[in-house]
Amino acid sequence: MSAIQDGVPQEPSEAKKNVRPSWDEYFMEIAALVATRSTCRRRSVGAILVRDKRILATGYNGAPSGLAHCLDIGCLREDLNVASGQRHELCRGIHAEQNAIIQAAFHGFSIRGATLYCTHLPCAICTKMLINAGIERIYYRNGYADDLSLTMLKEAGIQILQIPAMNYHRNFA
Ligand SMILES: [Zn+2]
Ligand SMILES: [Zn+2]
Repeated sequence: MSAIQDGVPQEPSEAKKNVRPSWDEYFMEIAALVATRSTCRRRSVGAILVRDKRILATGYNGAPSGLAHCLDIGCLREDLNVASGQRHELCRGIHAEQNAIIQAAFHGFSIRGATLYCTHLPCAICTKMLINAGIERIYYRNGYADDLSLTMLKEAGIQILQIPAMNYHRNFA
């Protein structure tokens, strides 16, 4: 809708004001969109690193750039029906959180002090990397069965918070 009527700027309607997401919801929705690019046969994960309300890097889970991915050639981990959180080395995919960290390295900037918004709680491997990358907060939407991850996050003093899915009708008008 035009914000100008009869040449006079109009205030946005109350309805439109109310659907405006908070910053946390906004970044979590973007992480969910990033996840749609996933090439994992099992789980679509999206991650973004944010500092001072600005996105530093994004990542989703999938095979290294330019290589065949599990969606096309299959996945041994899936074929063997490996339980969630176990034997990650059998899959050629890189986790979303790792890809976000790698993207920052690729471009050569620090992600120290950043917040991770991720569709899922990071696994223990990603958690170790996030701790040493200097990530200070982790906001996630879906839980992940990994007690070691939670234990280490608490030990490292990283703030973790679950942000539920937004419940509103998008209106791009
Ligand atoms: Zn795989
Ligand atoms: Zn992981």
